Amino acid sequence: MKTAMPVSSNNPPTVGRFAPTPSGGMHLGNLFCAVMAWLAARKENGSFILRIEDLDASRCQQEFADQMEQDLLWLGLTWEEGGSKGGPNPPYYQSKCAPVYEQALNFLSEKGLTYPCFCSRGELHAASAPHRSDGAYLYSGKCRGLTSEQQQELAQKKSPAIRVRLPERHFDLYDLAQGPWSHQLTSGEDFLLRRSDGVFSYQLAVVVDDIRMGVNQIVRGQDLQICTPGQQWLWGQLGGTPARYGHIPMLTDRDGRRLSKRDRDMDLTALRQRFTAQELTGWIGFVAGFLDQPEPLSMAELVPLFRWEHLSKTEITMPESFQRRLEEGL
Ligand SMILES: [Zn+2]
Repeated sequence: MKTAMPVSSNNPPTVGRFAPTPSGGMHLGNLFCAVMAWLAARKENGSFILRIEDLDASRCQQEFADQMEQDLLWLGLTWEEGGSKGGPNPPYYQSKCAPVYEQALNFLSEKGLTYPCFCSRGELHAASAPHRSDGAYLYSGKCRGLTSEQQQELAQKKSPAIRVRLPERHFDLYDLAQGPWSHQLTSGEDFLLRRSDGVFSYQLAVVVDDIRMGVNQIVRGQDLQICTPGQQWLWGQLGGTPARYGHIPMLTDRDGRRLSKRDRDMDLTALRQRFTAQELTGWIGFVAGFLDQPEPLSMAELVPLFRWEHLSKTEITMPESFQRRLEEGL
């Protein structure tokens, strides 16, 4: 497996992206990821895409997607393509892309790279982004070796989910944020391509969309690093050279908990009441390691200060002074 190397002047222009799920308001952890992805693209004079990952309609709402756009624009984070702005590679809402994913799934099935999985819903886990770093989720391989007769018999009782058939393969990878690393892909990682209820999986959609939108630099949270070898392999099967990946540290609160949608005090509504956009940008630059102290500055001013090597390789705890500032007047 070829190791992805840092960009050189011969490479095509950088295309980065931010791909939030509008299942709630944006919180500081999402925003940190958006800013790092944006800085990494702008530092290379690249363009930026906003893609709305609303595959699971029961969890997502348009008003959250609209609010995310407002929050990003408030901070000074702009994009050339995507969201309500549109662009040359629509749709930018995954809920509208089912025919595209269907086509990719059929293509993989024709190559013999998929198999039906009849395991119960509980066994399957949701077809959303996996969180193996939070608790191992590996597939048992139960349905991998079913004969076509067994598949036909089971299909009469229930409609199956579809899984990818991954190769046993060793990957040597280069991560923009984490440096060199390696991974042995196994059948236990055979991920879902489509749930039994017909909803396409995060893993399929993210690769299909990145390919069709020409994304070549992916910056996202470290919790998704473990998905990279399988996604790179899928990328190769669907055509083209996989993007360069950078997996950035997760933010935690003073108790060491990762920031999430549950932390109302770290959501953008609260943050916008207590910080100006430039103050918040300065804080983000400070916790990322690009500034010696938090000082107000614009997103454009932060671009030349961006350095992969200054970013922590492990979780970042939000400074006590930041948390106290948030709590003032509550
Ligand atoms: Zn199964």
